[in-house]
Amino acid sequence: MSQLELTLAIIKPDAVTSRIAGEIVSIIERHGFRIRGLRMVHLTAAEAEGFYAVHRGKPFFRGLVKFMTEGPIIVMALEREDAIQKWRELMGATDPEQAAEGTIRRWFGASTQRNTVHGSDASETARVEVAYFFPEIFSASSRGPSGKPRGAGPARRR
Ligand code: ATP
Ligand code: MG
Repeated sequence: MSQLELTLAIIKPDAVTSRIAGEIVSIIERHGFRIRGLRMVHLTAAEAEGFYAVHRGKPFFRGLVKFMTEGPIIVMALEREDAIQKWRELMGATDPEQAAEGTIRRWFGASTQRNTVHGSDASETARVEVAYFFPEIFSASSRGPSGKPRGAGPARRR
């Protein structure tokens, strides 16, 4: 059996504003992801620039930062087998017009910029992105990979 994996998902400001966040969360759960962390944040320009630093200097960078700071977002740490790839498959291609049928961006995305969701693109970026918003998930003493508190379980006697 393959290993459980974590990825970072973001419901972007366009989706939160148009009140489809709940529907997106529901789709995520129906596809076998377990929500390990979830919160709403309103990014500052500096935070959005830092988050998308890999795109600094590209023609769409300023517009992307403006978009990502125009309203609150919902960040989630998602867990399942092969979570990074499976979440990217469920999101669909960056441009909603190119996204496959049955994907979130195909259903809800308005444009290449306003495409409703973000997903980590590789294991190293996933680790950094999840740790940025949910440092507690990685704190040594808190929880094991399944989300169970360490040492918890039935029939534990002294
Ligand atoms: P994300 O990183 O948000 O999951 P992605 O990995 O599919 O999306 P990236 O190439 O990393 O795509 O681009 C990051 C985001 O920048 C896109 O999701 C989109 O909102 C915006 N973006 C990318 N390319 C363009 C473009 N050509 N024009 C406008 N906005 C763009
Ligand atoms: Mg990306």
